[in-house]
Amino acid sequence: MKKAGILGGGQLGRMLLQAAVNYPVETYLMENEEKAPAAHLCHHFTKGDITRFEDVYDFGKHLDFLTIEIENVNLEALEKLCEEGVIVYPNPAALKIIKNKIQQKQFYLEHNIPTSAFVETHSIEELKNNAHLFPAVHKVSNGGYDGKGVQIIRNIEDCHKGFHTAAVLEKMVNIKQEIAIIIAVGNDGQIAIYPPVDMVFDQMLNLLSYQICPAEIPQSVFWKAEAIAINAVKNLKSPGLFAVEMFADNDGNVLINEIAPRVHNSGHHTIEGNYSSQFDMMWRIMLDYPLGNTAIIQSTALVNLIGEEGHSGDAIYFGMNEVLSMDNTFVHIYGKQKTKPGRKMGHITVISNEKQELLHKVNKIKNSLSVRSQTL
Ligand code: ADP
Repeated sequence: MKKAGILGGGQLGRMLLQAAVNYPVETYLMENEEKAPAAHLCHHFTKGDITRFEDVYDFGKHLDFLTIEIENVNLEALEKLCEEGVIVYPNPAALKIIKNKIQQKQFYLEHNIPTSAFVETHSIEELKNNAHLFPAVHKVSNGGYDGKGVQIIRNIEDCHKGFHTAAVLEKMVNIKQEIAIIIAVGNDGQIAIYPPVDMVFDQMLNLLSYQICPAEIPQSVFWKAEAIAINAVKNLKSPGLFAVEMFADNDGNVLINEIAPRVHNSGHHTIEGNYSSQFDMMWRIMLDYPLGNTAIIQSTALVNLIGEEGHSGDAIYFGMNEVLSMDNTFVHIYGKQKTKPGRKMGHITVISNEKQELLHKVNKIKNSLSVRSQTL
């Protein structure tokens, strides 16, 4: 049996391993936290730091292939493993471009992929010197995730919120909708495209509030978005699964925001909503089987279950009965022992071809389900 490695043991690793059960594959996982969401689902657990060269190299050298659940991994070790014949999804060259937001933006420019205007900054002074881009969004180049390492800079007074390190300052887009398209790329370069998702953000937490698939977008926006996503992914020249996040503005323009070179939150609904889920697809790619069918079975809405404000400690789930008493509602709890404000603790998928029903249920879920700690 093929030996597969996953770097990182959070919810993405957990759902990948749930799908791995159906395939002839032996799974290895490396993660620092022994009680991480995915830890008990792999065949072989290795405690280790995914950002350390030695840890990643030692973990990977006996494997057939490896994938990641987060970009912040040791790239040099993956490069060496690749040279020695271990296949890495995505390949290290693609990961290198994506891992660094400055390089990622330059990649879009080089390939004529529409994206918001930007400059590279390294200090607050440089940030202040680029006021012509305000209102703008400042993003640390390395290691940001889920809105962390992202600050909105509206004017000079906001500059103290910026980052005194390598970062991208990009013009703020007048966002009408945020959409994502997931594309699977096989080892032979063949692609399969998932229908677009409409992501609705919680402005306060800067986190996904809910998402709907398929996205309700004009045909022209759909064509632009699909063309942009295909162009971007093809130019990365790597097999794997890619979530392309885009903005549609009020004038019908589509701009690329970023690419995640891995399974992604914007694809969790595919577990119930599509014939081949993003996790099933990832195993088909890595095991060199034919790509799966990306078509939707029914429309879906997805709500992230986020740790409640003011609650830190052992997680307790409230409202599970109310949610599960609704038809066609599926709960995914990630098994994180501790909750804290804003932490992703799970998600709930609703399936129905009636948009009104989806939105009604999303509201009910948001009003009844919460995750809190014992301490308050
Ligand atoms: P992360 O990788 O941490 O998720 P993103 O680059 O996706 O960071 O930014 C987080 C959110 O900030 C986006 O989903 C979007 O709502 C907002 N945002 C990011 N870039 C821009 C931009 N250029 N204009 C307007 N809003 C933006």
